[in-house]
Amino acid sequence: MVNKIFPWHDTLWSRTLQMTTQDRLPHALLLCGPQGMGKSAFAQRLTDYLLCQSPDEQGNICGQCKSCLLLKANNHPDLKTIIPTNTSKTITVDQIRALIQFCNLTANYNRYQIVIITPAESMNRNAANSLLKLLEEPPSNTLILLISHRPMALMATIRSRCQRLDFSRPELTTLKNWLHTQLSPDVPIDLLLNLSNQAPLAALSLVETEGLKKRQTLFNDLSQLVNGKIDPIRVVENWQALEATQLLSWLISWTMDLIRFASTQQTVYILNQEQVEHLQRWGKQLSLSHLYQLLDLQQEALRFVMNSSTIRLQGLLELIALTWIAHRR
Ligand SMILES: [Zn+2]
Repeated sequence: MVNKIFPWHDTLWSRTLQMTTQDRLPHALLLCGPQGMGKSAFAQRLTDYLLCQSPDEQGNICGQCKSCLLLKANNHPDLKTIIPTNTSKTITVDQIRALIQFCNLTANYNRYQIVIITPAESMNRNAANSLLKLLEEPPSNTLILLISHRPMALMATIRSRCQRLDFSRPELTTLKNWLHTQLSPDVPIDLLLNLSNQAPLAALSLVETEGLKKRQTLFNDLSQLVNGKIDPIRVVENWQALEATQLLSWLISWTMDLIRFASTQQTVYILNQEQVEHLQRWGKQLSLSHLYQLLDLQQEALRFVMNSSTIRLQGLLELIALTWIAHRR
């Protein structure tokens, strides 16, 4: 069995391994940090290690024991993974109740029963309250791994009952070196890391999904829109072909650059440096109040998407496109 081992996990991994060997592993760990840091891979590696019947001292699994084979077949009775249901995109109280029943069982093969809840912020309020009771009286030999891209969206009482593993601030050189080994030399790694919130797997996925090209096309469209060369309705049609979170994050990033430039008149504060000339020109055309209005609208749309509500999205996108050109009237 091949584990996904990433160099920026090294410190957290040795710390976790040490907790395990010294018998200090808490009942619940909160793995938090932006999407694309490999938190799930880390949770999987830890699960494999804890369930393997004869791992080595570095935390490598044997790959041959009954547990390893069951894990490989995604069929280990001592592991339960909870993800949002397809219909509601939330983790429901029924799922957590089933989980509590699972925790009352005795482990089949090992000392541990392991639960992975991902992403933990998908739990609705009832589910979160139900989990809280479990965290308050944790069954022995159960390890609960909560994975969260937005830990602040979790109830504070849940956060306080978990030991935190923070994936958000790895060494930038470690990330760059790793990306160099994964990508061809002509890929702009600094730009990729900027666009992906310094999350290396998100950066890699931007290349794999042709994200850089899509972003450039989006920027060209926006440029035509601002210059009155394309119909806003047409632009919204193009926007709807993109993944909404990504579309809005990119629009917000350019708007923030424009606000920084309009407030300071200095291009050094522009993060999207490869588009600096356009942004500088627009920053002179668009007023600050107008830019803040755009920012508010785009952030509101992003909140809608994050809360899995796309009902009003088209209307909001049309309003955003019209607001980008409102200065022309
Ligand atoms: Zn094994």
